[in-house]
Amino acid sequence: MRLLIMGPPGAGKGTHAGALASLVRGPHISTGDLFRDNIARGTELGRLAEKYIAAGEYVPDAVTDDMVRDRLGQPDAARAFVLDGYPRTHAQVATLDALLEARGTAVDGVVELIVPDDELVSRILRRSAVSGRSDDTEDVVRHRLAVYGDQTAPLLETYGERGLRHSVDGTGSPEEVRRRVERAVASASGAGA
Ligand code: AMP
Repeated sequence: MRLLIMGPPGAGKGTHAGALASLVRGPHISTGDLFRDNIARGTELGRLAEKYIAAGEYVPDAVTDDMVRDRLGQPDAARAFVLDGYPRTHAQVATLDALLEARGTAVDGVVELIVPDDELVSRILRRSAVSGRSDDTEDVVRHRLAVYGDQTAPLLETYGERGLRHSVDGTGSPEEVRRRVERAVASASGAGA
């Protein structure tokens, strides 16, 4: 199964994508993690991405698309994956569609995590104490939420029109959310069968 996990910053995508990846037996591919890994290793890609990430802006599509194309082309992602943090723009949706179509495959389901804005901000500020992320400060978090609302939230409608969107309440304990996410995936696999 090829799944996307979507939702605003702080919604818990990373946490639940890991469990989903074991469920579908494919890699958890987080574009944010890939960028952070490149920054830590001082690669050219990392240097390109760094200033956008620190400002809470999206890295340009061309850069992000190349990185994703490369990662999805690796053998472990041939049959299943959980993509976390991509696509984030309409152009990225089109790139992903074309990429998968060229292989005769497609996205099987999209899990959306819903969490109110105030809770997102307080979660991220709590996380900032341990994450050390340059973009986990209150100003940048609020900007990231605005960018998400403008550019990424509308993509959920696109996937909804395709019958792929499974919205999950992302509040409550991680265990409760995990159970809801698993139910959503069960219905996604039923729908895609
Ligand atoms: P995340 O870990 O998913 O919150 O991503 C951290 C940051 O990486 C984002 O705020 C963006 O600056 C950048 N990023 C991650 N994924 C994408 C993407 N699909 N398109 C553009 N920028 C991205």
